[in-house]
Amino acid sequence: MKAIYMPEPWQIGIKEIQQRPLESGEALIKIRSAGICGSDINAFRGTNGLVSYPRVIGHELAGEILSVPENNPKGLKPGDRVTVDPYLYCGHCYPCSIGRTNCCNDLRVLGVHVDGGMAETFAHPANMLVKVPDDMPWDIIPLAEPLTIALHGLHRLQLKSGEHLAISGAGPIGLLAAIVAAEAPGSAVVTDSVTSAQLADFLTGRLGLIHRRFKRGYKNVINEGIRLNQEGTPCLLAIETSGHAAMGENYFLDDGAYVAVKLLIQAARLRREGRTLGALLEGLEEPLEAVEYRLPIRAEDFRAYGQQVLEGLEDYANGRPGWQTAPDNCEGLRISFPEEKGWFLLRMSLHDPLMPLNIESSRPGGTQAILDLLRPFLARWKELNLSRLP
Ligand SMILES: [Zn+2]
Ligand SMILES: [Zn+2]
Repeated sequence: MKAIYMPEPWQIGIKEIQQRPLESGEALIKIRSAGICGSDINAFRGTNGLVSYPRVIGHELAGEILSVPENNPKGLKPGDRVTVDPYLYCGHCYPCSIGRTNCCNDLRVLGVHVDGGMAETFAHPANMLVKVPDDMPWDIIPLAEPLTIALHGLHRLQLKSGEHLAISGAGPIGLLAAIVAAEAPGSAVVTDSVTSAQLADFLTGRLGLIHRRFKRGYKNVINEGIRLNQEGTPCLLAIETSGHAAMGENYFLDDGAYVAVKLLIQAARLRREGRTLGALLEGLEEPLEAVEYRLPIRAEDFRAYGQQVLEGLEDYANGRPGWQTAPDNCEGLRISFPEEKGWFLLRMSLHDPLMPLNIESSRPGGTQAILDLLRPFLARWKELNLSRLP
C-alpha cells in the first residue's frame, strides 16, 4: 500500500510500504481522509525535536473499519466511520493513573514517535476509535482531533456559563504601550524586528514614545530594554510580537501573569469612565497584507552563507531607485518601498538553516509586487531554496 513517508527532514514522498500485522485488540481501518497539522509541518521542517525519522506522518485521521475484534467494548462493526485517538499511552504510569493519559511517561504520538496514518490502511487499538455519524463528510471528520485539544483546554478551565475570560493576542503591544505612555511619557519601548510600520507609527506618532525595533527572540528584546535603561534611556516595556512582554517595574521578568493583571487593572479603570481596553488602540492600523516565507539554506555552513546573502543584498539595494534601506535596523536587512506602501525584512533564523522573509504592504497586491522586485536578487543564490515562493 502507499503511504506519505519522510525519510528525513525536508524530504517527503509517497512510498510503497507493508501493512504491519494486527495486534490483539486492534482494528484495521481504510483511511479516507487526514488533516495536516502544524506539527506535521514541523516534522517536515525538522523543527519538532520529538519526531524520529524515517516516519509516516498523520494523526488527524478518518476512515472506515475493515476489521475489528468481535465483542469490542464500543460495539464497533466493519463499515463504521471512525476517527482516531492518536495518543497511545501505557495505562499504568503515574500520569496515566490519574487520568492524564496525554502526559503518559511513555506517550507515543502517531506520526511523531511511531508511524502515523497517512497510508491506505492503518491498524489501531479498537478502544481508541470513535464512531462518527454515517452522514458526516470525510473531509471534516479529521478536524475532530484538533477540536478535542481546544475542548480539553476548556474542560480544564471548568468554565461556567456567565463567567468572563480573557483571550490573549488582541493587540497586547499597543495596549501595554498605551498604558506605559500614560505612566512615563516619552519613554522607550523595545519590539522585535518584524514590527509592522503601522504599529511603529502608533508607538511614536500617537503615543509619543521612542520606539526601538530590535531583533527577534524575546530574550534579545528584553535584554535590549535592560541595556537602554543602563545607558540612561528610560525604557519601561520590552515586548516581542509573540506576546512575551517584560516591564521595567517588574524587573524585566518575562511574566505573563503580571502583564495580564496590568491589563485587567486598566480595564477596570476604563470601565469607570464607560470605556473599554479597545479604546486604547484607537488609531492603530493593521497592514493590509502581511506574508512570511521561510527560505531554506542548503549550504553546509548556513550562517556564513546567510551572511553573504545579506551583504550581497545591501550592495544590491544600494542606490537602486525606490529601495530605501532602514537605517535603524538591527537584524537582517529591512527595505522600504514607498511606491508599494510596504517593506520587506530578510534575516537569518535564530536557530534553523533558513532565512525568513517578511513582507507587508498597505496596498492591494503590494506584497506580491515587492516580492517580484526582490526575486531577481534571490535567484542568484543557488543554495537558497526558493521553491516555496509563490
Ligand atoms: Zn495535530
Ligand atoms: Zn502512561
